[in-house]
Amino acid sequence: MSAPISRAFTKPQFEVADIFRLFGEEYRKNHCLPLSTSRIMWEIEHCRTSELGGHLRQCDECDHRHNEYNSCCNRHCPKCQALAKARWLEARKTGLAKDFLFRVEPLSQTFRGKFLDFLKKAYKKGKLMFPGEIQHLAKKNEFNKFCSPLHDKNWVVYSKKPFKGAEHVFDYLGRYVHRVAISNNRIVDVKDGKVTFTWKDRNDNYKTKEKTIPADVFISRFLLHELPSGFMRIRYYGFLCNRFRKQNLKIIREILGVEETSEQMSKSALELMMQLTGIDLSLCPKCKKGRMKAISTVKKPTVYTIMKKILTLRINDSS
Ligand SMILES: [Zn+2]
Ligand SMILES: [Zn+2]
Repeated sequence: MSAPISRAFTKPQFEVADIFRLFGEEYRKNHCLPLSTSRIMWEIEHCRTSELGGHLRQCDECDHRHNEYNSCCNRHCPKCQALAKARWLEARKTGLAKDFLFRVEPLSQTFRGKFLDFLKKAYKKGKLMFPGEIQHLAKKNEFNKFCSPLHDKNWVVYSKKPFKGAEHVFDYLGRYVHRVAISNNRIVDVKDGKVTFTWKDRNDNYKTKEKTIPADVFISRFLLHELPSGFMRIRYYGFLCNRFRKQNLKIIREILGVEETSEQMSKSALELMMQLTGIDLSLCPKCKKGRMKAISTVKKPTVYTIMKKILTLRINDSS
């Protein structure tokens, strides 16, 4: 597993959740936030706390107990997205997708279709200019005559074999797909109402530098990255389309004569953490021999309950 993922799981000194807990209330007093934004703040603030329910676990050797709280699963949460990214990568690396991702031939055909379609639309809207030698193409029939043979030409989209193999391509993609405004391990310090974080200066050879800004500016900038509701960062098409993916992959595996390995079965969060960090979370932290078993469970609150809590908070804040 590559370094960036493992690094995401070492516990950072400060988290976005800490900044929300310290300065969120004041921020909400000074800013009128839409409910969707309040929900992001609330969920990140309460991620893996008793508010979200969880399990009480007890060691089967020494009776040591500890609480394990639920994650918020909000797609803006830096803590949750690190695991979501790892899960996504795991599924891609063991799935069939990597064999099909970069087939040049269909890519070329799609590119040709899209390019010509956009070109014609731009022509219709009068967005194209035809200076000098190509002046004659401004006429509609001339333009159509020029375009029609292009559909029969074989277009070759320039593509290269990934330098370091498919895993690195997915690692790169995964970073974009599960990107949140800032990852927790970039926050260096929180003090005197200010937040210091690291950033990479493109104009200075991508050197890592530190920047300090007031906490409320930090929160504003973080919340600017809120995704519109219903917005999907990835859409799956064709045989990977969500509805029939399972059946389709089964048929494809049969045709290709590839067996589904146990690796391809989805891993539990505990197994994934073990693989990523080498830490066995089911092992008792006290005696280091026993296993932590769940002895009682508090259910995660529903969206309805969470929204009710947020609205109550709002009413209290404004009174
Ligand atoms: Zn979370
Ligand atoms: Zn124990």
